[in-house]
Amino acid sequence: MTDDEFRFETRSIHAGQEPDEETGALMTPIHANSTYEQDAPGEHRGYEYSRTGNPTRTDLEANVASLEGGEYGRAFSSGMGAINTVLNLLEAGDHVVASEDVYGGTHRIFTQVYEQYDLEFDFVDMTDLDETESAMREETELVWVETPTNPLLNVVDIEGTADIAHDHDALCAVDNTFATPYLQRPLELGADLVAHSLTKYMGGHSDVVGGALVTDDEELDEQFGFYQNSVGATPGPHECFLVLRGTKTLPVRMDRHCENASELAEWLEGHEDVDRVYYPGLESHPDHDLASSQMDDFGGMVSFEMDASLEETADVVSETEVFTLAESLGGVESLIEQPATMTHAAIPAEEREAAGLRDGLIRASIGIENVEDLKADLQQAFEKSLE
Ligand SMILES: *Cc1c(COP(=O)(O)O)cnc(C)c1O
Repeated sequence: MTDDEFRFETRSIHAGQEPDEETGALMTPIHANSTYEQDAPGEHRGYEYSRTGNPTRTDLEANVASLEGGEYGRAFSSGMGAINTVLNLLEAGDHVVASEDVYGGTHRIFTQVYEQYDLEFDFVDMTDLDETESAMREETELVWVETPTNPLLNVVDIEGTADIAHDHDALCAVDNTFATPYLQRPLELGADLVAHSLTKYMGGHSDVVGGALVTDDEELDEQFGFYQNSVGATPGPHECFLVLRGTKTLPVRMDRHCENASELAEWLEGHEDVDRVYYPGLESHPDHDLASSQMDDFGGMVSFEMDASLEETADVVSETEVFTLAESLGGVESLIEQPATMTHAAIPAEEREAAGLRDGLIRASIGIENVEDLKADLQQAFEKSLE
């Protein structure tokens, strides 16, 4: 099916997928094959070896590309596999400007893997375009944007940042994992490529790890294909099948994630035990206007600061019964965690404080359960844990 003909909800179900010609089977089969018969030496029917290409993966790649409104998609065995592939484009001496609160794994691969190959990284507060502009150098080849950010849900102006990148002949990459293409389409805003952890909302059921890259630039996509095949961080067909199954319901899931998150954020904002709520949908959020223009809705992640110690806050996240104490996000079930002791524990305490990640901070991935049960669950956890 041609993409621009249909709207998002239709493409999420159909893009990249056709019923099997031979059997009529509706769903893309799990092509559990490593190799493919050739008609003559070197003459194959599109597939020769599954690291290079697999039909289940092809359907997923076309589906994700279509949702991002891009021409080309590539799937990987994890979000980090996708991010690594972007870094493969760079050469020793190149410089990268990144959001200061990028995903922890992104910070790790930048500083602990690629700095040793002589790439340089600067982490800046990208909510301030002037900071991004002043970090740009002659050698800057890549600007790495994450928005909304984790766990403080800061919002970065994608269009403004892409303009700065292009003024300096650098690529602008956006990690769109938190928003998903249902809420935000970076390519339309000028980004050169979009990266995903499919593990989160795209898969949506906490049962698969995967990643993707999408671009409109054929040359860039060819390079991605080269590194995808050369490095080999490719997903298996079972994983591709699960993500394809997930993206079919992305719009309805996201609608409910957003609805629940927005209601909970408002409830928390009015709660006497809560000091501050971070959710771009709240009018009190410093980037609410930007989020409203750049995103179609505000997503399912809510962070909030308790008026409580590290220990009391740890108790709150341990006492919930509907919310599961766990890292990760984006599944149908609600998850809760304490960044200071979990996702962001690797950051030294002082740096953590300076970055606004206080001891009383809680991050929640709001699932699609009944929102009244979610509120009641937090309320009982507060009552059990706070003096
Ligand atoms: C999870 C995540 C990643 C890494 O993806 P994996 O699938 O875990 O490798 C990258 N960016 C963001 C924003 C994430 O949440």
